[in-house]
Amino acid sequence: MAAPSAKTQKCDVAIIGAGPVGLFAVFECGMLEMRCAVFDALSAPGGQCAALYPEKPIYDIPGYPRIDAAELVDRLAEQAAPFEPQYHLGHAVTRLEATEDGFLIENAAGLRCAARAVIIAAGAGAFGPNRPPLSGIEAFEDKSVFYLVRRREDFRGRRVVIAGGGDSAVDWALSLSDVAGRVSVVHRRGKFRAAPQSAARLQQLASEGRIDLVVPYQLHGLEGDSGQLSAVIVADLAGRTRRLETDCLLPFFGLATDLGPLASWGFDIDHNRIRVDAATCATSRSGIFAIGDIAFYPGKLKLILSGFAEAALAAHAIHPLVHPGEALHFEYSTMKGVPGR
Ligand SMILES: Cc1cc2nc3c(=O)[nH]c(=O)nc-3n(C[C@H](O)[C@H](O)[C@H](O)COP(=O)(O)OP(=O)(O)OC[C@H]3O[C@@H](n4cnc5c(N)ncnc54)[C@H](O)[C@@H]3O)c2cc1C
Repeated sequence: MAAPSAKTQKCDVAIIGAGPVGLFAVFECGMLEMRCAVFDALSAPGGQCAALYPEKPIYDIPGYPRIDAAELVDRLAEQAAPFEPQYHLGHAVTRLEATEDGFLIENAAGLRCAARAVIIAAGAGAFGPNRPPLSGIEAFEDKSVFYLVRRREDFRGRRVVIAGGGDSAVDWALSLSDVAGRVSVVHRRGKFRAAPQSAARLQQLASEGRIDLVVPYQLHGLEGDSGQLSAVIVADLAGRTRRLETDCLLPFFGLATDLGPLASWGFDIDHNRIRVDAATCATSRSGIFAIGDIAFYPGKLKLILSGFAEAALAAHAIHPLVHPGEALHFEYSTMKGVPGR
């Protein structure tokens, strides 16, 4: 059993996963006077909504006939903000151990947090990009090499090299061609694996000179200084190289999800999901709850709205662990209000 050290941070509830469901759990816990720390392997909150489809509309969030995924994330973060969650982003949680009065959580950066209870809102596992094998790429990451686009306005007027041949590469090439100074798409084949309509539009923009198709080429090297790219070197199958001057590189080779250490934390795992009690979202380990896509019970629907309801169930079930002996009187938000509002 681990003992928290003097440097360990403290919270009532540690939430592993800052996807839409983890973010809403901050609100639900906050309404019951429980302070949260939120951990995510990604460097920004939003989970699948931010990493996979930020600009796609969602139509089944109650009260919003249509909302873009990125906007939903912004609104969830705003709804959580009055409860002042501590965010620990950009590093996966690698350790979860029981302590005398709760749990010790540690992320890959060595940050430790002691919590009375834990909510696992880890979706399909920690997200990480499939990185191209280019030496020194780490030095450019998050400065001029990006694995996801948060705001396309960030690329206005800039020269962008996109690498990849799937939907993300093609969709972002089309989208950024409206704002970027120049868009070049590097793909090792002449044919793209994207939706036929999008692939056809890509060819059309290429024929109009609005996008450069650099095919069949692969990424070969990077040039630049202090994290800022000046050029991407590409090579064809015969090893002949070309130099593409650029301000940024967006490699879209897919995101890998990794259940990682979660799988060895002693849960009842069923097809990569954690079995929970549907009434409380409690896992087989006392004090640890699972909600959202990672949670499984008979009849479970992998929808954001199901995850929101699970966040409320888990928060109510956790309350007696954080506030033992205090009676919990069920109250509506309209009666209780929210701090600062
Ligand atoms: C293209 C697409 C369209 C969709 N459209 C809809 C829709 O219209 N309506 C709908 O309801 N749903 C939709 N979904 C599904 C919806 O996005 C998911 O149900 C939702 O994102 C689940 O939220 P979550 O918070 O449970 O998990 P996720 O969004 O998957 O977030 C989990 C987070 O946990 C983090 N994490 C995992 N393990 C660790 C760890 N060890 N350490 C640190 N962080 C960790 C991950 O990095 C990730 O950010 C869609 C999904 C896709 C891919």
